[in-house]
Amino acid sequence: MIKSLQCSQGADYRRFMKRQSPESSATIKKQIHKRLQKRWTIRELYKEKSWKTLVKVGLQTKGLYEEYDTIKVQGQVLSVGDSVLINSGDQYDEDYVGTIKQILSIKEPTTAKLICLCRIQWYMRKSEIIKSQPKCSEWISEQELFITNHQEYILAQSIIASCKILSCSEYQELDEIESTIYFNRLEWDLQKKQFGNMDALQQFCFCFQPVNPDRQYIQCDSCKNWYHFECVGIKNGKYNQNEFYCSKCQ
Ligand SMILES: [Zn+2]
Ligand SMILES: [Zn+2]
Repeated sequence: MIKSLQCSQGADYRRFMKRQSPESSATIKKQIHKRLQKRWTIRELYKEKSWKTLVKVGLQTKGLYEEYDTIKVQGQVLSVGDSVLINSGDQYDEDYVGTIKQILSIKEPTTAKLICLCRIQWYMRKSEIIKSQPKCSEWISEQELFITNHQEYILAQSIIASCKILSCSEYQELDEIESTIYFNRLEWDLQKKQFGNMDALQQFCFCFQPVNPDRQYIQCDSCKNWYHFECVGIKNGKYNQNEFYCSKCQ
C-alpha cells in the first residue's frame, strides 16, 4: 500500500528557502548540537528553519515522525525519486533543481499540525558551475544539470513543480525541447569545485570540446568527425552543399 502525505501548509514559507552550501556543514553541526542541548521545541525549530535538527528531534520522540511514498504538493502527486523545481527564495535566482530522496512529516505536538519535509539531492545549473569554471561555458548546455553528493531537507511547500532529468543521449533524441526537461552527464564535486568524471566525456571538433546540444554541428564525410559550424567557418547557421570535408581531409 502506498502511503501518501498531503501538504496543506500555506505558501508563505516558500520565500525563505535558501540552499545551504556543504562548506557550512561544520557550522550546521554545531548549531544542531546546541539546539539539541537546549531542548528547543518543534515550534522553535520550525521558526528557525532548522530542518535537520527538527528531523532529529522528531525521530527521538515517539509518534512525531512519519515517512511516506508520495506527497501531494501544488496539486501534483510526487513520489520518492521524482525530480523537482524548488523555489530559491530569490526572484532573481533560477529555481533550484533536485531529486526527492525521502518524504516525511513531523507533528508539532501542541497543535498536531504536520510539518511536511522532503530530503533533496541537489543538482547544479550551468550558471552556478561557470562561476568557478568559466571556460566551460561554451560546451555546457542551458538545460544541463550536474549531480552533486549534497543532500538537504527542505519544506515541501517550497517545491514548485516536477521536472525531468534525462541522460545526454536521451535529451539529444528529443524532437521538442521543453523548459522543464534537463539532462545530466557529469558529477560536480561541491567541495573541490570540479567535475567528478570528466574523463568519460568524448571531445569533438578542432576546439576539442564535449558536445553541447544547444549548438550546431556538421559531420565530415571523410573522417566522420563532428565540427561546430563556427569552427569550420559556416555562417548564419546554413550549409547548402551536399558534402562536407574538414580542413584535415580536404
Ligand atoms: Zn569547435
Ligand atoms: Zn575530416
